[in-house]
Amino acid sequence: MLNIVMIASECVPFAKTGGLADVVGALPPALSVLGHRVVVIIPKYGFVDSSLHPMRPLPNPLGVRMGNMQEWCAVHEASLPGKVPVYLIEHDLYFGRPGLYHDAALNDYVDNPRRFSLLARAGLQLCQDLPFRPDVVHVHDWQTALATAYLKVWHWDSPILGPAGSLLTIHNIGYQGKYPSSHYEYIGLGWPNFEPDILEDYGQINFLKGGIHYADLVNTVSPTYANETRTPGGGMGLAPYLNNKGDRYIGILNGVDYTHWDPSADPLIPAAYSATDLAGKSVCKRALQDRMGLQVEPQVPLVGVISRFAHQKGLDVLAQVVDGVLQQMVVQFAVLGSGDPALETFFGALPGRYPGRAASVIGYDNELAHWIEAGADFFLMPSRYEPCGLNQLYSLRYGTLPIVRATGGLADTVEQYDQSTAAGTGFKFWDLTAQALHDTIGWAVSTYFDRPHHLLQLVRRAMSRDFSWEQSALGYQAAYLRAMEIKRGR
Ligand code: ADP
Repeated sequence: MLNIVMIASECVPFAKTGGLADVVGALPPALSVLGHRVVVIIPKYGFVDSSLHPMRPLPNPLGVRMGNMQEWCAVHEASLPGKVPVYLIEHDLYFGRPGLYHDAALNDYVDNPRRFSLLARAGLQLCQDLPFRPDVVHVHDWQTALATAYLKVWHWDSPILGPAGSLLTIHNIGYQGKYPSSHYEYIGLGWPNFEPDILEDYGQINFLKGGIHYADLVNTVSPTYANETRTPGGGMGLAPYLNNKGDRYIGILNGVDYTHWDPSADPLIPAAYSATDLAGKSVCKRALQDRMGLQVEPQVPLVGVISRFAHQKGLDVLAQVVDGVLQQMVVQFAVLGSGDPALETFFGALPGRYPGRAASVIGYDNELAHWIEAGADFFLMPSRYEPCGLNQLYSLRYGTLPIVRATGGLADTVEQYDQSTAAGTGFKFWDLTAQALHDTIGWAVSTYFDRPHHLLQLVRRAMSRDFSWEQSALGYQAAYLRAMEIKRGR
């Protein structure tokens, strides 16, 4: 049994902007099922509603030394399923705001480096008061990366924290936390460490880079993304530092919350179904076509897309080919997403050009997302890069065969269809070109019409794949043991 302290800026259900929050909400309960003791430490943001999340204040304030100042925080204890304690750090000036990282006009809070270095430091400080001695401190992304530095610079001789190993998880290397060096005194890691190999980055402080340097072990959320971030193109400036880690930089796939995403027990979809009884999937397809204004055609393959319209997701390439696809192939499209205004306009106008064959909803709609996962035949993700990706994992479980660019977690979780053996769980392409995307959609569509018996095998196989949190938790358990070994110099 290990004692694990997780420090993070997000955790479902308290605060979420992205996949990091899902991981921090789901991994600790899965670890506790494996018999480990876990506590989670997050900020108490202004919007965290204590009437929705019962919590009790701890009796003592937490004094945290930052630069030459003493900050004072209050701490509240709540919990995650499985009785995992969650400690929320209250510091009104820094966290009592309506946003996590930016204001309503999307301007980053200028004091973010102070807010999150305080969180990292306060999280460690709180460990001194916990009823156990941590074996591992697990931190996430740039926001808490510096806890690994504080461990080594400040707590190396502490009987409680000194022996703890550290693990830094990178959820998306595009966000590194780069800030002016004027914040460095406050962060308090000493000028000798403001070096290009450690925390300095062209005159700025780089939080993630510092974390990579100091963490005993670093991981990202899929093995292929780990390899991609080791290359100049994928590492966004940090590839040399990740390469320096050698085998101390690994990939561990995220899990999926099958309590919310399983077609045999999904209260949001029109009909339940399973790999052994697929009748409900046809009901879901008919209902989806009807709801989105598509022709109700059971025999026309339906391609679903649910996505943020962001450069990362490659939908600009879909925009280049979708007209040609709709003109040349017997196929329907159902698109749900929002983001980039040009893509919102493009996909918003698509149904007008192909009434009954293309449908789109511009916005965020969780129920419709479930309907598309259940009702579509194929699910398209032409991502430029994808650290892990969730939607392809949902699609597999819903028997909605993924058509994906083989990058990051998409490469690791979708198995290429083999026409000669009917092996595989989806359709992959490698080059993000209009031609490759067009041809791969064509391959899926022709398989639908020409090899329906193959398709059925793929659907059943896809539905049987297991990307549960139990699997990921085993990966993290091994990582924690490795981080502890590295810490002990083995
Ligand atoms: P990312 O986290 O990069 O956006 P993922 O595939 O990992 O991509 O996760 C996306 C999650 O957000 C999925 O749960 C997906 O269903 C959901 N999602 C994205 N866009 C929408 C939308 N417009 N409406 C509903 N759900 C959405």
